[in-house]
Amino acid sequence: DKIRVTVWNEYRHEKTHEAVAKIYPEGIHGQIAKFLSANPDMVVRTATLDEPEHGLTEEVLAQTDVLIWWGHMAHGQVQDAVVDRVQQRVLNGMGLIVLHSGHFSKIFKRLMGTNCSLRWREIGERERLWVVNPGHPIVQGLGEYFEIPHVEMYGEFFDIPQPDDLVFISWFQGGEVFRSGCCWHRGKGKVFYFRPGHETLPIFYHETVQKVITNAVRW
Ligand code: ZN
Repeated sequence: DKIRVTVWNEYRHEKTHEAVAKIYPEGIHGQIAKFLSANPDMVVRTATLDEPEHGLTEEVLAQTDVLIWWGHMAHGQVQDAVVDRVQQRVLNGMGLIVLHSGHFSKIFKRLMGTNCSLRWREIGERERLWVVNPGHPIVQGLGEYFEIPHVEMYGEFFDIPQPDDLVFISWFQGGEVFRSGCCWHRGKGKVFYFRPGHETLPIFYHETVQKVITNAVRW
């Protein structure tokens, strides 16, 4: 009865950008799978864009309770047939966690039905993520807020449908705010969007970021 997690990554930046490979030598998916695997209640596999059917065959999805999605430069290369399949699996009850630049992935836009656009700035400023739903399982064990010292800023307006549950609002040093932790229900499935990420910053080594993703898998 372990939670079966599949971590999906387009896995392109790590192969082409030395700075990214230095931070994530086993890929962003490798790092996420690594910290999740430390939980005895989870069994974790990975899948990437260049595998046949992007590693997301009917069989893999049937054996996945929670799919984590990381993409940035190759959203357009994800086959529509695979997007259809993932969407159906969500509607049938799979959880989907979309990270950072995954806001522009085909699967997220499909499930949201909106443009999912936002504003952004990359100067390594500070982010404070305020917990605005302290009873929610995703923020279990967190304080009133947590901070990440150097991030890429994402700002409003974030073109998403009103979340069923909003759990984080971010403040940035430059003055912007952002709905950085959002939950939706789609069919029998649940979708969580979590903002932190970025391939040139060690965000997925941040202890609280790891805790939120771990909580989200259990939610
Ligand atoms: Zn980014």
